[in-house]
Amino acid sequence: MPPPLAPLPALLFNVPPQEAGSFTSNDVAIIGGGFSALATLANIVQRRDKPMSICVVARGGLRDFGPAYSTPRHEHLLNVRAGGMSLWLDNPAHFAEWCKAEGIDGASPAAFMPRVVYHKYLQEILDSTLALAKEKFITVTVLDDVAVAVNSGYAVSLQSGRIVQAKHIVLALGNSLRAQQQADIAGLVTDPWHYDYTQLPANGAVAVIGSGLTAVDAMISLLTAGWQGKIICLSGHALLPRPHLDMVDATRMPKLMAQDFVDKPLSKLLHNLRAVAKPLGAEWPYAIDALRPLTQIIWRNLAPHDRTRLAGRHFALWNIHRHRAAPEIYRQLDAAMKRGQLQLVKAHATGYAPENGGIKISLQRGNHMHVDRAFVCTGIGYGAGENPLLRAMMQASLLPQDGMTADETFRVGGTESRGIYALGAPLFGQLFETTAVPELRMQADKIARVLAAHI
Ligand SMILES: Cc1cc2nc3c(=O)[nH]c(=O)nc-3n(C[C@H](O)[C@H](O)[C@H](O)COP(=O)(O)OP(=O)(O)OC[C@H]3O[C@@H](n4cnc5c(N)ncnc54)[C@H](O)[C@@H]3O)c2cc1C
Repeated sequence: MPPPLAPLPALLFNVPPQEAGSFTSNDVAIIGGGFSALATLANIVQRRDKPMSICVVARGGLRDFGPAYSTPRHEHLLNVRAGGMSLWLDNPAHFAEWCKAEGIDGASPAAFMPRVVYHKYLQEILDSTLALAKEKFITVTVLDDVAVAVNSGYAVSLQSGRIVQAKHIVLALGNSLRAQQQADIAGLVTDPWHYDYTQLPANGAVAVIGSGLTAVDAMISLLTAGWQGKIICLSGHALLPRPHLDMVDATRMPKLMAQDFVDKPLSKLLHNLRAVAKPLGAEWPYAIDALRPLTQIIWRNLAPHDRTRLAGRHFALWNIHRHRAAPEIYRQLDAAMKRGQLQLVKAHATGYAPENGGIKISLQRGNHMHVDRAFVCTGIGYGAGENPLLRAMMQASLLPQDGMTADETFRVGGTESRGIYALGAPLFGQLFETTAVPELRMQADKIARVLAAHI
């Protein structure tokens, strides 16, 4: 059937939060503005061969592509090699080839590229997606707004008072950044990516709360900005992400036997993993990487008490080995530790207050410390209940209260949720491995195949 001649589709973009009470009706509403939302939109538009209407509701519009890729700072590198960062499941070399075609310095599939470069890559995909949508008579509306509730007829209520009606909903909500929930205190930095590091005093001491990849970003920016004072990194375990290997040689990857890891008690599984990693010496990361194809099935088959232990007591240890930093980043931190500038301290910050132009940090057992600035890098909340929209949808019985699960097309289970799809962090409880681009692009691809074909 030829496409209709008129009217031309509306391409409303980054519409600001206004027009309370206004109403739009759509085939699909995608809620979220990060990689997951863009990957879902791009895949639907690629696959769809008939007109349809898609509304994206994203806090801040579809501009930043989420906290990971909105940093303007060149020193913040991807923690996955370029060869693993393509948006397209069926074209895994796409990002590495794009970098090469753009003539970007140091581009190669093995390189850890600056995240600002990745942002530009995503922006180009968005631009070409919108152009393709126009050719295919697909209406794409992007609303700069926040979805606060969904009713059983899939009417999405937005913070501005507008309503977006949709036949299908895709939840691409990402993580809840815990730091953003902190009080607004001068000298307390909750967004290390957009902080103006020229505002630091000449020297003294700063604290970085947390020691994951967000904390690494803050510490690298402090060092890049020429900060000469002390950096005190406080966390419950005082462990930094381990470095990736400088070079990768796939032939060095050990072949793991699934029966040594799947359906095993956690203690046995970790014992077997250590047994594989130990003989590799400095090349132990190959053992962790070899486990990756098995991780979701291991998680699915773990006993409930072992799941609790892995996502609780052992989670920090798992994360520093699994979500590693680029080797050049790790080398800078290691050098700062060796010269005594960076100190890792096992402690929990329990509160912050302004004090003499700096910050007083309360610690457990009535202890406290004074620093010139404190960077809160406490990372992300994985629990579905930490996201207000998911909480509202659970209360409305649209989503199960006892944990969100999805089928192989990423359609969410639950009596009222047959047209609701989800990808990324909200599925952590089911999938465990669901936060990085290699998993997200697969999930977006599967959702798009269904939505492009069946509406
Ligand atoms: C510092 C950092 C570095 C990382 N580096 C890498 C890397 O190098 N490689 C890699 O593969 N992964 C990396 N990750 C993991 C990263 O989380 C994923 O790659 C990806 O960015 C997640 O995308 P997302 O869209 O699922 O979630 P997010 O990026 O969290 O985006 C979700 C978006 O939806 C918006 N939103 C949420 N709720 C609503 C609502 N109710 N209404 C409207 N909008 C809403 C949010 O404001 C946000 O903009 C990194 C993560 C962090 C934090």
